[in-house]
Amino acid sequence: MLRSVILAASRSSQVERLVATAPYTRDVVRRFVAGAATDDALRATRGLVDDGLAVTLDHLGEDTVTPEQATATRDEYLRLLKMLAAAGLTPAAEVSVKLSALGQMFDEQSAYDNARAICAAADAAGTTVTLDMEDHTTTDSTLEVLSRLRKDFPSTGAVLQAYLRRTESDCRELSSAGSRVRLCKGAYKEPESVAYQSAREVDRSYVRCMNILMSGDGYPMLATHDPRMIAIGEDRARWFDRGPERFEFQMLYGIRPEEQARLAGEGYTVRTYVPYGDEWYGYLMRRLAERPANLVFFGRALISKK
Ligand SMILES: Cc1cc2nc3c(=O)[nH]c(=O)nc-3n(C[C@H](O)[C@H](O)[C@H](O)COP(=O)(O)OP(=O)(O)OC[C@H]3O[C@@H](n4cnc5c(N)ncnc54)[C@H](O)[C@@H]3O)c2cc1C
Repeated sequence: MLRSVILAASRSSQVERLVATAPYTRDVVRRFVAGAATDDALRATRGLVDDGLAVTLDHLGEDTVTPEQATATRDEYLRLLKMLAAAGLTPAAEVSVKLSALGQMFDEQSAYDNARAICAAADAAGTTVTLDMEDHTTTDSTLEVLSRLRKDFPSTGAVLQAYLRRTESDCRELSSAGSRVRLCKGAYKEPESVAYQSAREVDRSYVRCMNILMSGDGYPMLATHDPRMIAIGEDRARWFDRGPERFEFQMLYGIRPEEQARLAGEGYTVRTYVPYGDEWYGYLMRRLAERPANLVFFGRALISKK
């Protein structure tokens, strides 16, 4: 219920204005978003890489409605990739891209063209791109774009969301050699017809999907903060003899930093997803909606790093 309310609020410009001007918002945002500028993103990346973590950078923004906005997003990624390479931060840093920010909502072909330009720039910079996954109405289109991109840039990765009923089957499709899949639980409000609704069902699906990916030939990226899923991931890595070059854990910037450091200290590859840019509102609200405890967590986050 609370989750639905927060996710509904994530689409409301009135609530956005309210949140944006609330007294502590800036502090909360700063904790979970690297900053507004490309330099902020680079600074955060440098710090994480120096601490032994890998990084994926997300230029915040989604649901782009004009070709001009989509082109501006593409150009920001091109600039970012050049700067990452010049700073020696590739291949430790890759980029995450939302197709909706590249025009997917009004023209799939131009979203593909923009994504292709980013993949080419990533390739030239010695790194890769992972396509974020948005709500279920975009899944087919995103996987179609992925398959086209992988013809020229085979290391392009995708996100699959364990809460969707279709995802086990998508994991099977994408568990072949060279395929990079970021497995997460899923962050959007989805109907029962397409998505598991209870946390228990989603967790069970996550484990089934993880089993498919970890026993397959691709490169699994386990994106979760959940201690149980992480422990099962560690177990499957031992079971399927996957060393740090054959799978990785991923978590969001500012969430469980000590756990990220612990796993990296144990020799695992750990990648932090670092969002930056002005358009933090939808991202922040999805983090709040993930579980009611996050409201408390966000409050606590202001005073603690645990
Ligand atoms: C790298 C990355 C990329 C992602 N990309 C996408 C995407 O493209 N599309 C999409 O739909 N979703 C994406 N997500 C979000 C994801 O779908 C989940 O909504 C989000 O990760 C919360 O699920 P969880 O597995 O972390 O644990 P949850 O089910 O939210 O929580 C389970 C347990 O994990 C621990 N935990 C969770 N959050 C916290 C916290 N903030 N602080 C302390 N402990 C915590 C707690 O013990 C909690 O009980 C991404 C997540 C990551 C990490």
